[in-house]
Amino acid sequence: GGSRHCFYSPAMKEDAQLKLMLRRDLQKAIEQDQLFLMFQPKVQCVGGALKVVGVEALVRWQHPQKGLVSPAEFIPAAEENGQIADIDRWVMAQVLNQLGQWYRRHEEATLPVSVNVSASLFSLDGFVEGMAELLSRTAVPAWLIELEVTEHVAMENYRHTLETMKKLKEMGVGLAIDDFGTGHSNLAYLRDFPVDVLKIDIAFVKDVHADSKKQALVRAMISMARSLSLKVIAEGVETEAERAFLESVECTRYQGYLFYRPMLTKDIDKLFAAGEEY
Ligand code: C2E
Ligand code: CA
Ligand code: CA
Ligand code: CA
Repeated sequence: GGSRHCFYSPAMKEDAQLKLMLRRDLQKAIEQDQLFLMFQPKVQCVGGALKVVGVEALVRWQHPQKGLVSPAEFIPAAEENGQIADIDRWVMAQVLNQLGQWYRRHEEATLPVSVNVSASLFSLDGFVEGMAELLSRTAVPAWLIELEVTEHVAMENYRHTLETMKKLKEMGVGLAIDDFGTGHSNLAYLRDFPVDVLKIDIAFVKDVHADSKKQALVRAMISMARSLSLKVIAEGVETEAERAFLESVECTRYQGYLFYRPMLTKDIDKLFAAGEEY
């Protein structure tokens, strides 16, 4: 939309001064606790009823002057200037601490939390060891963590990804391919990588009920996922018409504003406390 404010938009990338400002502000954001997490529930349709099956952690930045800055604005910039690794590390530690609290409070009613992992964290030497250390320090069972890795990140270094994913899988950490279908990559990688879930990108979901090309693509993704025994979740589901089409092709896991928007920690706490009752 025309009136949306972008404080650190890609168009500003040329502007060295703005880049510098963002870099400095982000450094402060990490140091001064300006970042916080929201969690968006994922649901599954089981016998006509909806059940929450997990949540995705999404980072937010409360800037002291500019207010809430969207990750769509600062994550790409942070990826470019290398600060993303610090952000990801902060997010991972935060999620595991939170999960530790939830697990002690709600035990089996605690649902898995997905974390977005950028290339610079995923490709770091010692990433797997760091995960193992965090899991044991926070006493969180590995199955409560799922990592969302985009095709782009996964394909950056094939052998490293394969090795890393195998180790994570052995530990019991869940693995999802994020933004599936947007990576322009040879799909053969799906045979090799031990992933559990494909997240169909919002681009294929938007108005899918009214677009036969998208329908053909979504059908193909679902049938491929099924033949590889992978779970599928559609992201960005906003309307009942989209959901109905997805259900008609046997995609029964969804994430999107139709069900839940990203929520504050305290509301997720209530969701877990309610168990099956929500
Ligand atoms: P993503 O991983 O694809 O996350 C989904 C984005 O879609 C989120 O935007 C979410 O709020 C939004 N969304 C959810 N349901 C709907 C819907 O029904 N309609 C529409 N239009 N949007 C929906 P958000 O939180 O602004 O995050 C944007 C991107 O920033 C994420 O895309 C992810 O790539 C990145 N990101 C967010 N948090 C983190 C993080 O902690 N670490 C890293 N590395 N990246 C993150
Ligand atoms: Ca994601
Ligand atoms: Ca996504
Ligand atoms: Ca996306």
